[in-house]
This record gives sequence, C-alpha cells and structure tokens, in this order.
Amino acid sequence: MAAITMSNIVKKYGDGFPAVNDVSLDVQDGEFMILVGPSGCGKSTLLRMIVGLEDITSGEMRIGDKVVNTVAPRQRNLSMVFQNYALYPHLTVFENIAFPLRLAKTPDEEVRRRVTETAGLLELTEHLERKPANLSGGQRQRVAMGRAIVRQADAFLFDEPLSNLDAKLRGQMRTEIARLQRRLGVTTVYVTHDQTEAMTLGDRVAVLRKGVLQQVGSPRELYEQPVNLFVAGFIGSPSMNFLPASVEGTQLVTPLGRLDLRDPAKAAAAAGREVVLVGIRPEAFEDASLVGADKRATGQTVRARVDVTEWLGNEQFAYVPYEAPADLAAQLRELSRELDGDQLRTQAVVALDAASLIAAGDEAELWVDTGRLHIFDPATGENLT
Ligand code: ATP
Repeated sequence: MAAITMSNIVKKYGDGFPAVNDVSLDVQDGEFMILVGPSGCGKSTLLRMIVGLEDITSGEMRIGDKVVNTVAPRQRNLSMVFQNYALYPHLTVFENIAFPLRLAKTPDEEVRRRVTETAGLLELTEHLERKPANLSGGQRQRVAMGRAIVRQADAFLFDEPLSNLDAKLRGQMRTEIARLQRRLGVTTVYVTHDQTEAMTLGDRVAVLRKGVLQQVGSPRELYEQPVNLFVAGFIGSPSMNFLPASVEGTQLVTPLGRLDLRDPAKAAAAAGREVVLVGIRPEAFEDASLVGADKRATGQTVRARVDVTEWLGNEQFAYVPYEAPADLAAQLRELSRELDGDQLRTQAVVALDAASLIAAGDEAELWVDTGRLHIFDPATGENLT
C-alpha cells in the first residue's frame, strides 16, 4: 500500500481555464479519500492525473516516496475501476478477473490461486464461468473490483463506479465497497458527485469546485464546520437553509423572525456587519411544543406559516415559505450566481420529529437551535462562525 501526495497540482487543457487549479492533497496509506463536487469541477481530471492517464501541467504527484509525474500508467501499480466497468464481454468472469495477471505473464497456477481467492472475497465463486452479459449490475461491479483487487495494487481508484446502478443496488454496493475497503485496508481514491456516497464512504472527503479544493475533512467536519457557503450547501440533504438577515446588535433579523445570538462566538461573527447570510440545517429546527425546558434555553422560537408537510415515518419535513427584503435578495442573488448553486431559496425546509402534529396551513411555533447556526459573509460566502 502507498500514500498519494499531490502538491500544487494544476491541469490546463489548451490555454483555457484550469480544470484543476493548485490542488494540494495528501491521501494517507490505507485511507479512503473521496473527491466530490458538481459536474465539471475537475474531480475526474485529478483522478486521471493520479493514474497517469492525463499529463500534469504543473505541480508534483507522489505515490509512496516516488515522484510519478512522468511515470507511465502501467508502472504506477494502481488499479482503476471505471464507471462502465470496462469488462470484456467475450471473456468469462474468471478471465476478466485474471486479465491483469495474464498481461503480466503470471504463471497459470498462481493466476488460478489468486483469482479463486479474489472471487471468494467477492462472492463470485459460483459465477466464474459466466460471461458479463449474464450477470446482474451488482455482479458486474464486483467483477470490475475483482480485477482491481487481484493485482495487489498500491491503491484503488474509483471513478463514479455506482452511477449506472438503480438506487437500491447502489445502496447495497456502497456498503459492500465500504466493507471491502476496510477489510483490505487499501489506499482508495473515489470520485463521485453524490454527496451521500461521499459522506457514507469516506474517511475524509475533498470538496472541489471549479478546479479549486474547497475543504478536506471527515464527513462530520464538513457537515458541522463547512468553510463556506458552497460546502455548506453541497453537503447534507435536504441542504442547509440560507436566510438573508440584517444584524441589530446581537440579534439577527431574518424573514422568519428575530434570532438572538446567545453564543458569544456567533455574536462576534456577526458584529460590525449590516447584513449576513444565516445557515440553518433543517434539523436545527424543531416543533417548539416538543422541545423540553432545558433545550428551550439553548435556542429560540419563531412563528411561521407551513405550506407543505412530508411525513416519512421516522421524521417529517415542513416547508416554510418566506419573503426576503428586495434589496437583500438582490445583493444575495449575485453571490448565489457566483457560487453556481441554487443556494438561495424562498422557503426553508424544517425537519420535525415524527411525533409533531404540525400540519400544512398551520402557523407553527418553531424552535431554532441557535448554537448550531452558521453565519456567512454575504460578499465572499466564507463561514464566519
Ligand atoms: P463530471 O462529473 O461531469 O465527470 P468532473 O468534475 O469529473 O465532471 P472533469 O471531467 O475533470 O470534471 O472536467 C473538468 C473540466 O475540464 C471541465 O470544464 C471539462 O469540460 C474540462 N475537460 C475535461 N476533459 C477535457 C479535455 N480532454 N479537453 C478539454 N477540456 C476538458
């Protein structure tokens, strides 16, 4: 196994805007690292530079202690699993898994031993004589992974391996990849645009936007301490609510009501500013009638009209439309465009306990956990809290 170290990596196609812009990232030995971001953010390009399928414009790429900038893909001893599996339709499962060993002219007996072992690990033993066409999507996926495993590579690289699967299978395969990676302890870099995959699979997650690395951290760090509006909006589903607010002393005047900043650090973040953007996760709201006295002391309540509710059994969502003052809205729309997201809505999503009786049409009293709110700079999107 090996660590992968990227230092100031830049990729320019022609003389255009850099697809990857000065990315420095260390993937530790045995770590499961996710590269995530919207379409076009440069995550596949970065992965392809690790593998050697794409030249590096500038910067340094190391695998273990070796600089590999000019090392041919085959000499890097990495295994890549592609989105479309890249299986050979005319070969059996056995020969598909054996393929890299055949290329390396491995003796027959060793091929048999290693393929059998790998197939056992992936529960493919019964299917070794089948052709890919006669396998389910999940089985094909496992064959593709088998081919990566059998080589005993220094690291596994995955490029959106689950995006062709239906939702149920995707969930199953996600668990399977996680289990396998933990068991093998192999350094893994995994590209996805799906924040759920990123959050559930990664030891750490690197969020990219327009070629620039925004934040690297554990899923919990990204969720609880996003560095900016982009990461805050990208990680979490349903996503964080962003409310424009004017600041009056230690109070935030939001379209849903006034919120008192009791936490001195949060008050300090807003101090001296006229306008901020307040980020509140859906679960930082609760039906005020269900909140105990001790919890009540840590937050405040607002009153708001609920227009739609969605009951999901274990929780429910309430949608609360609001109107932002026109001048604020105009100013923030600029920021929203810059951050290329649908970041600013005119409704808040509130996650309620399943026991809540708040119904569509109610003027609801909602408790807000003000200790968990985020305050963003409306000009730069930086998280000030
Ligand atoms: P997706 O999820 O859609 O695959 P991505 O985040 O993986 O997106 P990349 O495929 O790495 O993004 O592309 C990053 C940027 O580089 C995009 O703007 C893309 O158009 C551009 N790009 C990628 N490959 C090439 C190429 N061969 N020539 C020119 N531009 C390219």
